[in-house]
Amino acid sequence: MSAVRPMANRDTQFFWDGALAGELRLQRCEACGALRHPPGPVCPDCGALERGHVVASGRGTVYSYVIHRHPPVPGKELPILLAVIDLEEGPRMVGEIVDLPEDELVIGLPVRVDFRAVDDELSLPVWRKADA
Ligand SMILES: [Zn+2]
Repeated sequence: MSAVRPMANRDTQFFWDGALAGELRLQRCEACGALRHPPGPVCPDCGALERGHVVASGRGTVYSYVIHRHPPVPGKELPILLAVIDLEEGPRMVGEIVDLPEDELVIGLPVRVDFRAVDDELSLPVWRKADA
């Protein structure tokens, strides 16, 4: 099976480790407590380099979305529903919405995270419609 593999580096390894453990992890500045996503080395709020993470609730709502119909993506069936999720904790995260008819994808839709194992070393967060 082929899949698009995300790149892990020093700043994002905790996120992918979390996905493998079934946790949605958000980077947190250890100086001012600000949460951010995507992860990065420097806090955009206070400029501090000290960083840790918290485990997010995995709940959010659809802020915006696109329906990817073309071009083909290796290992994926089209269309792919891609959304920007407003996380309960504040940061936004781009993610794939799964098991949802595309005409049910609307702004404000409540969603919850799930994890899709690609192999023993990679699990990807995906999003499902949440029971309201
Ligand atoms: Zn900070």
